[in-house]
Amino acid sequence: MGNSATSLAENTDIRKLYQAEARLRSDDQLWGDIDLIAWLLRDGDELDDEQRELLVIEREVYQWELYRRWDRGLTYPACDFGFARSEIERIRTALPIEAVIGLDVELKPRGKSLRGRCPFHSPSKSGMSLAVRPGHDGKWYCFGCGVGGDVLTWIMAFNHCEFTEALRRLAVMAGEPIPMRRRPQPPSNGPVREVVLR
Ligand SMILES: [Zn+2]
Repeated sequence: MGNSATSLAENTDIRKLYQAEARLRSDDQLWGDIDLIAWLLRDGDELDDEQRELLVIEREVYQWELYRRWDRGLTYPACDFGFARSEIERIRTALPIEAVIGLDVELKPRGKSLRGRCPFHSPSKSGMSLAVRPGHDGKWYCFGCGVGGDVLTWIMAFNHCEFTEALRRLAVMAGEPIPMRRRPQPPSNGPVREVVLR
């Protein structure tokens, strides 16, 4: 980007990409991303102007998408893979994120965050580019490759596994009961009960 003459046109394309992505995300995921971006803009001292600009555009697009849904009275199903939302939250917040990421990558304190080497891109360039915001609702982000998320996305990315597998692995690590998927009701001869979806 750098060159301001091309910047506008490129921004328009980037906006379209973010918009397409936003449509695929649940309300909760969008709120989570907005929260993550706010943290990065506040604490991301290594962000260059271009990265900062992109994050601002991404946040704007996601907020706009949430507003659009609210404005139209749309509900968007949380992407819960058949598990109860409360079960996912219980396991997601059972351990501080640094305890989980710390098993895979050596983390060192820097300011309010923790830093480590990112396992998702070639380490030669950016050194300690992996930032972890510690805590039970912690987040991670790599300033080198721009990947980030919460504890479940970390487990998915590091182990190349699906959401369900990541949730089960985390439950085992945390010593929490492994969540059961909700199953469809078996056929019954009784009166038909209305199924209320959240
Ligand atoms: Zn990286």
